Amino acid sequence: MEGKTHIVGGLAAGVGYSVLVGTGDTTPFLVGCMVGSLIPDIDHPQGKLGRVLPFLSKPISSIFGHRTVTHSLLFLVIVGVAFQFLNLSQALEIGIMIGLVSHIVLDSVTKDGVKLFYPFDFNFRIPPGISTGGFIEKGVLIGLCFLVAYYGYGMFL
Ligand SMILES: [Zn+2]
Repeated sequence: MEGKTHIVGGLAAGVGYSVLVGTGDTTPFLVGCMVGSLIPDIDHPQGKLGRVLPFLSKPISSIFGHRTVTHSLLFLVIVGVAFQFLNLSQALEIGIMIGLVSHIVLDSVTKDGVKLFYPFDFNFRIPPGISTGGFIEKGVLIGLCFLVAYYGYGMFL
């Protein structure tokens, strides 16, 4: 999936979480959703985050490849442990985690899938397997925009 789809996907997941569970502080929560939705593609030097942080994305890409460790359950655990040493607000941490999970789920519905169980070399895919940047992804993006607009407008009222 492309960066813009991941950002909107992270927001949609965050809005869904907010509707079902509620959030504390809305702004850091939604910022966390957006940032978290981009973090896994730090392994892609041409991605939105990879272009901003090439000193991180290039070595990660050459060592691990794309959609491996940063798209895995192991990475969620690593980030969760890192949160124990960082002094972030709980709303921001939950938002980042939701963004990370949304990214992994969205990449899982592409033809390439993700190495969800990294370091095991099993490619996890959720059918139907759509093409990144293709026509169906554009439809997914539009649908996610409507979900964010419909359920999310109330978060700021
Ligand atoms: Zn990705």
